[in-house]
Amino acid sequence: MAQAAPRQKQSAAAPRTPVSPPAPASAASAPLPVIQASSLFDASERVAGDTLERIREDLGDCTRCRLHKTRNKIVFGAGNPKASLVFVGEGPGHDEDIQGLPFVGRAGKLLTQMIEAMGLRRDDVYIANVVKCRPPENRPPEKDEVATCSPYLLRQIDAIAPKVIVCLGNVASQSLLGTTNSISKYRGQWFDYRGTRLIATYHPAYLLRNPAAKSDVWLDLKKVMVELGLPLNRSRRSD
Ligand code: URA
Repeated sequence: MAQAAPRQKQSAAAPRTPVSPPAPASAASAPLPVIQASSLFDASERVAGDTLERIREDLGDCTRCRLHKTRNKIVFGAGNPKASLVFVGEGPGHDEDIQGLPFVGRAGKLLTQMIEAMGLRRDDVYIANVVKCRPPENRPPEKDEVATCSPYLLRQIDAIAPKVIVCLGNVASQSLLGTTNSISKYRGQWFDYRGTRLIATYHPAYLLRNPAAKSDVWLDLKKVMVELGLPLNRSRRSD
C-alpha cells in the first residue's frame, strides 16, 4: 500500500488533572473534570488535517496485534464523518466481524433504537470501537491490544471533532478516561476529553442482560440531547 506522506503534527498536550474517582460537573457552567494523566491518550498528538480516509489508509491490512490472526474483517467505524455525536464501543463481535461494520448484531439493534429514541438516525452519528478486530470468543480486549489500536480511534475522534462522545461500557470509558473504576461509579457524569464533552453509559449488550438499566441509559442520553440542543419532546421515549 502507498506510503503515507509525512504529516505536520501539533501537540494535543493540555494540562491534565488527575481525577480519581472522576468528579461530576453538576452545573452547566462548572468546570468539567478532565481525564487523568495516566490516560492512554495522554501522549498522543493531533495530526493536522487528518481525515477518516487517511486514518483508514494508515491502518491498512493491520497486523499490529494478535487480534488480526483470528479476525475476518477490520471494523473501522461507520457513520457521518462530520457527526456531532460519536458513540464508542468495545470491539467487534461475531456479526460485526462478518460484515465489517460496527454494532450490527443484537446489541447494535438496541443501539440503533437508542439513537432513534433521541430523534436521530444512525447515519447522523459516528460509531466506532476501541479495538477494530474481534477478540476471540468476544473476550474483552487486552491492555496491549487496546494500546495498539486506540490511537486510530483517537485520530478518528479528532478528525470528526464531535461535540459529544458517548462511551458505551467499561472498556470504552476506562480507555478514554484512563480510569480503572467501574462505569457504575461515573456513568451519566460529564467529562472533558481533550476539549470535547464525554459521557459514559452502559453498553447495549449489558442492557440486553439487564433491561432494568435502560432507564439509567435513557437519563444519560437525555443529557446528551440537551447538550446537542435536540428537542426532548420529539424523542421516542417520554420517561
Ligand atoms: N459491541 C461493541 O462494543 N462493538 C460492536 O461493534 C458490537 C458489539
